[in-house]
Amino acid sequence: MPASSHINSTERCFKYVNSDEWVTSGKIGSREAVLVFRTNILNPKTRKLILEAAPQQSKTGADSPSAVSTPNETIHKTSSSPTVSKTQSNYTNQGKIFVAVEKTVTNCKELVNHRNPIKKSLDAFSSSDASVSSDGDETIQYNETKSRKPHKSKNTSIIEIEVNLNKESGYESATTSQSNTEINTSEEDHEASSEEDNECGINMPAHQLKITYKFIQTETKLLRKIFNVHGLTEVQGDSNFNLLWTGVHMKLDTLRNLALYQRVNHFPRSYELTRKDRLYKNIERMQHLRGMKHFDIVPQSFILPLEIRDLIFAHNKHRGPWIVKPAASSRGRGIFIVNSPDQIPQDEQVLVSKYIVDPLCIDGHKCDLRVYVLVTSFDPLIIYLYEEGIVRLATVRYDRNADNLWNPCMHLCNYSINKYHSDYIRSSDAQDEDVGHKWTLSALLRHLKLQGCDTHLLMLNIEDLIIKAVLACAQTIISACRMFVPNVNNCFELYGFDILIDNTLKPWLLEVNLSPSMGVDSPLDTKVKACLVTDLLTCVGIPAFTPEMRTHYDGKSSRLRSSSCQRQVDTSESALRSTKSKKKPVIPLTQEEQRILRSARLQYTRRGGFVRIFPTDDTMQRYGNFLDPANGIPISTPNVQGQTFQTLVTQHNYNQMLHSNLFGSGPRSAKDDNSQENRIKQYERALETDSEIPFLKKQIVEKCEEEGRRLRKQMLKKITSGSTLTHFQARQTFSLYLESVLRRLTQDPKDSHEKIIIKFLTKYGGGVKPPVLFKNSQNISKARSAMVAKLLGDFLELYRRDTEAYIDSFDHFGMIPTNAYSLFLMHAQESDLEAVLTHHTNVTGIMPFLYNRCGLSVPATPPIPSGLHGFLRALPAMVTSYGMSREVSKYDGYIKNCDKNCENVQDISLRSRSTRDSK
Ligand code: ADP
Repeated sequence: MPASSHINSTERCFKYVNSDEWVTSGKIGSREAVLVFRTNILNPKTRKLILEAAPQQSKTGADSPSAVSTPNETIHKTSSSPTVSKTQSNYTNQGKIFVAVEKTVTNCKELVNHRNPIKKSLDAFSSSDASVSSDGDETIQYNETKSRKPHKSKNTSIIEIEVNLNKESGYESATTSQSNTEINTSEEDHEASSEEDNECGINMPAHQLKITYKFIQTETKLLRKIFNVHGLTEVQGDSNFNLLWTGVHMKLDTLRNLALYQRVNHFPRSYELTRKDRLYKNIERMQHLRGMKHFDIVPQSFILPLEIRDLIFAHNKHRGPWIVKPAASSRGRGIFIVNSPDQIPQDEQVLVSKYIVDPLCIDGHKCDLRVYVLVTSFDPLIIYLYEEGIVRLATVRYDRNADNLWNPCMHLCNYSINKYHSDYIRSSDAQDEDVGHKWTLSALLRHLKLQGCDTHLLMLNIEDLIIKAVLACAQTIISACRMFVPNVNNCFELYGFDILIDNTLKPWLLEVNLSPSMGVDSPLDTKVKACLVTDLLTCVGIPAFTPEMRTHYDGKSSRLRSSSCQRQVDTSESALRSTKSKKKPVIPLTQEEQRILRSARLQYTRRGGFVRIFPTDDTMQRYGNFLDPANGIPISTPNVQGQTFQTLVTQHNYNQMLHSNLFGSGPRSAKDDNSQENRIKQYERALETDSEIPFLKKQIVEKCEEEGRRLRKQMLKKITSGSTLTHFQARQTFSLYLESVLRRLTQDPKDSHEKIIIKFLTKYGGGVKPPVLFKNSQNISKARSAMVAKLLGDFLELYRRDTEAYIDSFDHFGMIPTNAYSLFLMHAQESDLEAVLTHHTNVTGIMPFLYNRCGLSVPATPPIPSGLHGFLRALPAMVTSYGMSREVSKYDGYIKNCDKNCENVQDISLRSRSTRDSK
């Protein structure tokens, strides 16, 4: 059935919103039409206006979109401007406007038109978008919807908890240790999609088109909210999705079977970039192949234990310090800094990198950057850098004295570590971009510019670093795409690049994260990430296919795959063109090339806040040497030229083709708006949205102390009379109890509890490892508490995930009824939880919160001291030390050290080494 025949029936479905506003790059029912995502619909007030305006539209005639209020017009109308001319309405860059860096310009219209090249491009290429200008929405003010304030009664305390462990809260995250997958700590990311979101979604084209998404092992709340308000529906099934968003690498089988309209958020073999060790090896190879001066973008590194000799040699040449990182981890887990290689345990594969001792500091605090890089295609290579990034500051002022190397809150900038420091400051207003310990990239650039730094050069060097890192890893990914990805646009990937800038303003690539965290902990975070995600989705393009079209193309997937092989024949022609006759008359593009070119152009018009950094007009001049002259593929192995790779793959040169068509002379040249000047301006300006994006606050649960005490008595009685907790209930209780301990640790550090917690975690082992070796001293207690809190937080995350396996909502004979217990958990304070755990352990003699019934080496339950924190004090004794891994035993040094009350870092590590050696 031809695609166009579905158009009419589909369009008739839209009762509320004007589908033309939410679909771009073509009419619904055309192969190129994709969904539009905007942030303004996240704001309940703006959303209401959009939806309220919509019925009028059907009255005024859905066939004439220009006569209908766009979401942005609607906003204007409700503000002081009653009349909005057609030319004032706009597509408004997916709900965003831009304000001047100095924030003094009042004429937003000028700014938007001047600063935002997207408008122009949209007008030029998008058939469905009204080509009108905008005067911006700066004057419009909406109060952020206040989070529901619970009624506070006597004896009632408001505590933020995640009560229902059956529900997704706190459990949606999962990760593998395969690469730098970041997951959110449930603490920051709040509130699942409300019914309102879903109601809104029902009015959207995506809902009418039955567009679906599927999550696999990923954090979901911000993403889920965005998908739901835009009308996408979540599915669980195997292949029944339009968009698959996963936090882990893709299964090859899933990739192989993707239909034309399906999108997935990873490329195959992305680990070449996202595993610290692979990334370093790929770049090191380029250093050998192309010269150090071109690829001096990462600190010198060694993979241990294999390269220990090289490390010692390098250390003797240029002394440490060195930073030690597990090869496949993220969020500061397991990282520590040493002065010399002999302090590094050699029983685990780690990456040891030269520590950059002179980092760029803001007000004396070390900082690093998180920038977001979108690759929409590896062949041709298309890379975008998001205009806004995040700058993370360490909480403790930087001091390069070796005595401080233990201190993670001074040397590591990870939010996941620093958030536990009691001096950590979060900005509470989305407009405060240079407040506290998290800034925006644009705020940093403005700050540096004021100090006379060359921010233009800095950003060009960052672009260069990104492109070179991708070039170093691209070859393997391209060959995997050829083998496993059936359609050109199936895959896209958003990478989180972590970059450290030294005090000469040279950027160093630290790592690339697969699935960068979308957790939000402040209004600023929410603004940046919501804009990032909506822009990302619009840019990559989720096809606005009708269900009938999907069925039509589903049936054709095998034909499409074989037609992609057809490329081999077609494109050999283009290879000839590129190698033989650069100046000869232009040979018409093959069908495949035309498709690629058109898709790249349309994508560029939808790029929102993404800045295309490859290709640009000087790409070939700067990077042409790193590409194979015949097929344009980045060369990263010495023997590839004219040999293995070339003969295996098709003969074409998409990079060359794209470059000459985009930047050659012609009416559609993207040369001007993507100039260096414009790109740098875009990085420097502040990101503004036309309506506030509500910060998804943590669900506030009203706890009643009295009720908690009453229910506790009930539970204790039940336990005394023989009822027991199920595994799930016991783990829920333990998890909530440790959450309370964690909260106390961050708010009111208690040294004795730190020692107990460290002792418990050390014995428990598992995936929780102290990231640095640290010594005991009174004047460093805040940072040490932060460290312990971070370990406990990591433990809790793993523990909660393991608890999923025990979910059980049925009542069992002899067990405490589910509903009654859930109610108790809802109101229980720390002391209530402790009382139940203690009583249950004493009466039953089992510890289901730590062991399942088939545990082989379960220790006898220890006597639990009565009184406050008695359970906590007994906790380390509940863990068997048989399970202690060799890895964990090295931290025994710390425990002994705490007791002795002072040792230095070197001694700890040496002693732990000798302990191991003697085993
Ligand atoms: P993770 O994936 O665990 O976050 P990173 O490589 O991003 O690991 O490093 C964590 C932190 O350590 C960074 O925020 C940075 O501040 C610091 N860091 C990492 N490598 C270096 C280095 N070579 N020199 C100085 N600081 C570093």
